[in-house]
Amino acid sequence: MACRRALRAHSPCRQPFAVQLLRLIKGCGCAVRNFHTNKTAYNKCQFGFLFDIDGVIVRGRKPLPHAKEAFQLLAQDGQFKVPTLFVTNAGNSLRSRKAQQLSEWLGIQVTEDQVVMSHSPLKMFRQFHDKHVLVNGQGPVKAIAQNIGFTNVTTVEELSHRFPDLDKMDHQRKKAAPCAFEEFFPKIEAVILFGEPVRWETPMQLIMDVLLTDGQPSNDLPDIPYPHLPVLACNMDLLWMAENRLPRLGHGCFMNALEGLYQKITGKEMKYTALIGKPSEITYHHADYLLTQQAKLLGVPQIRRIYCVGDNPTTDIYGGNLYNRYLQRRRKDSNTPSQTASKKRRVASHRADDEFLDEDNDDEDDMDTSIYQRDSGANMRVIKSLEEDKSGVEKALSCETILVCTGVFKKGTETTALLSPRLICNHNHRDFVIDPMLINPTHVVPDVLEAVKLVFEKETYP
Ligand SMILES: [Mg+2]
Repeated sequence: MACRRALRAHSPCRQPFAVQLLRLIKGCGCAVRNFHTNKTAYNKCQFGFLFDIDGVIVRGRKPLPHAKEAFQLLAQDGQFKVPTLFVTNAGNSLRSRKAQQLSEWLGIQVTEDQVVMSHSPLKMFRQFHDKHVLVNGQGPVKAIAQNIGFTNVTTVEELSHRFPDLDKMDHQRKKAAPCAFEEFFPKIEAVILFGEPVRWETPMQLIMDVLLTDGQPSNDLPDIPYPHLPVLACNMDLLWMAENRLPRLGHGCFMNALEGLYQKITGKEMKYTALIGKPSEITYHHADYLLTQQAKLLGVPQIRRIYCVGDNPTTDIYGGNLYNRYLQRRRKDSNTPSQTASKKRRVASHRADDEFLDEDNDDEDDMDTSIYQRDSGANMRVIKSLEEDKSGVEKALSCETILVCTGVFKKGTETTALLSPRLICNHNHRDFVIDPMLINPTHVVPDVLEAVKLVFEKETYP
């Protein structure tokens, strides 16, 4: 309802909600430029790629062997001929900067419209865009927030400057006197976690201050406000792969620490209003839409299959499989009223589309997506609204996942061992319900070049 109210508040006229939402998505700042000059009358390609970056294309700042060769297969005359997006959980740079890096690494022109950062889907959360938000992360976080659409942004560093007495972690930075500007500081209305900060102690302290004072750090409230202010988080990756042999601590670790701290201090659970980035389903809705727009520019009539290539079973594979379940359920719903008739139609349709439909497991098809992600109010409202809209937004028919062995996942490690029912180490975020089936990839290949070759063989392309 909050989403609907926000939309109505921003809408110049009272249009049906589905129409407004469709316009919102289409106008969410992801206008696809005419970067492809090789627009063709007809392109027989019926598929598209979503590539993870870290552990698939690069390790740290070093391109992986065969990455360049893989992407040459997807291009002609230096430009893409196959619809391709780069979907990363990184969030510490602008899309234009990431596109520039990719162009240099791959020797092929990548535009910012082909890049989905972990924070990109926040464009759809317009109900927060005019609120006073505290943002945490590293890199140009203020510019990133403003680029997405936020108009009233304070960084942790700015908050620390306005309230210099709050940060006592570093004894050298201790200030005795309160800041004179405190009383004029407008209340913070939401906290946005873009990514892990460079140094954790000050953000930990100040975010806790904001949550415990209902957005006014100079306040001394008699009771702890609960529920606390909305917290929107991007990039839940616990670990990520750089040049080192062992994975590095990711934003998921910072979130885990913050959640533990909040629980310990208040005795209550920290809640997220939205969780964005892989494996969140909303990231894939956003990517599917962008891929469809890119396909149109390339003369591809429809993307039937999406191939998600990644190195992390709990983000890339889990997220791709979760989205495939959504696509299956959507197809099933569109084929009602008769399940029998539905199955007949499935058999009659393209076999490759159907091999990921579990004909015998109707219960699974009926499962609501929300059970895989709890307490994600804003996420689910946006997704539910997307599901209600049956027109205008074209979707792929299925989504396959390809796990490469050049990053977090190492060959010889069974994915089921990472997420077994008797789990020892669960790397998923707390709010994502464990389903061992979702971390099993459709395919496992050595590297990104083999992933592209595999898809070309399956699709008999070019
Ligand atoms: Mg990765």
